[in-house]
Amino acid sequence: MALLNIIQPDNPILRKKAVRVTTFTDKKFQKLIDDMVETMIAAPGVGLAAPQVAVSQRLIVVRLPDATEEDREEYGDKAGVVYAVANPKIIKASKEKVKGVEGCLSLPGLLGDVERHEMVVVTGQDRHGKEFRIKAEGWLARVFQHEIDHLDGVLFTDRTDDVWEPKDEDEPEPQG
Ligand code: ZN
Repeated sequence: MALLNIIQPDNPILRKKAVRVTTFTDKKFQKLIDDMVETMIAAPGVGLAAPQVAVSQRLIVVRLPDATEEDREEYGDKAGVVYAVANPKIIKASKEKVKGVEGCLSLPGLLGDVERHEMVVVTGQDRHGKEFRIKAEGWLARVFQHEIDHLDGVLFTDRTDDVWEPKDEDEPEPQG
């Protein structure tokens, strides 16, 4: 496995609409998933989309946190679980929206208060092309919406005017 370079907005790939994944069997695709997971964990991040590593394909990885006691209580045996989703699509979203703080690995040194659906149902394909669906609520729903936005070239700073540079003493926020 290898760590991948996370690109910044000066690279136009970050703003491109990514194309659907159609081939699941080749080694390159399987390695891309493994490398993205490794890169996300090392960053550290809670999610990563393929365009962030300069691959314009509809693929995201998301990880449920397990760093604190609270995380483990909230997510139980799902804490630390990694989802790799190809061709993710939001098929249902709650009317209710919630604001929350987001950071992005492609926009280091920036945080923003972003409004997201409280609940989303996401369909997609796993690393072998098998279709599945996930119902995500709260924090996990936010990460999925952030990562799926990346596949359409959308950054969190497009969705809010409330953006700031955190001070060194601030608690680090999850990045995706
Ligand atoms: Zn991001």
